Amino acid sequence: MRIVFLGAPGSGKGTQAQRLMAERGIVQLSTGDLLREAVAAGTGLGRRARAAMDAGELVSDDIVLGMIRERLAKPDTAAGFVLDGFPRNLAQARALESLLAELGKPLDAAVLIAVDFDILLKRLTGRRTCSLTGKLLNIHFSSQAELDACLAAGGQLIQRVDDNEETIGNRLKVYRAQTEPVIDHYRASGLLREVDGYGAVDEVYRRVTQALTAGG
Ligand code: AMP
Repeated sequence: MRIVFLGAPGSGKGTQAQRLMAERGIVQLSTGDLLREAVAAGTGLGRRARAAMDAGELVSDDIVLGMIRERLAKPDTAAGFVLDGFPRNLAQARALESLLAELGKPLDAAVLIAVDFDILLKRLTGRRTCSLTGKLLNIHFSSQAELDACLAAGGQLIQRVDDNEETIGNRLKVYRAQTEPVIDHYRASGLLREVDGYGAVDEVYRRVTQALTAGG
């Protein structure tokens, strides 16, 4: 199964992609995670990406496409993959299409997790990552047991540097201007499956799997 997850920052696409990866044994490829790893490791790529990330702007297409091309060539993607946070604009969507055609691995679906803009802010400001497991959590929405489990195991709840109100505002603007056209692109090619992103993680996950089944 080869899927793209679309949705605004905070829509829950990363959480749903992690879940799909855990249950279906397919790899989750998050360009945001790959870029944050490069920044943390202080690689040349990380240094080139950092300013755009801190400002909530998109990193240049050539950096991101190079990363995706390299990652999709690895053998663990043979059973399928979930792309999370990519493509982010029409040029990336077109480049992905050519790359997957070259590899003989076309997409099965593009899943849009739809959530209104007014609730994204609360999700984004409450978002934390467990430093031990990488699991995405939320101080407003995760259960106390889940949050405590991370801390009890010796982990910390880390907040992303770009999850502050100013940068979030810019990321949502960039999403509207550059990423929303990608939705129409997949609608036109018949791959789009739209899922209501409200409610608990389990509930949304059920809708995601139903949408994937319904789409064949
Ligand atoms: P994310 O974790 O998906 O919210 O991404 C965090 C940041 O990484 C974004 O605000 C961008 O600066 C950068 N980024 C992630 N994915 C892409 C992409 N496909 N194209 C350009 N920049 C990206």
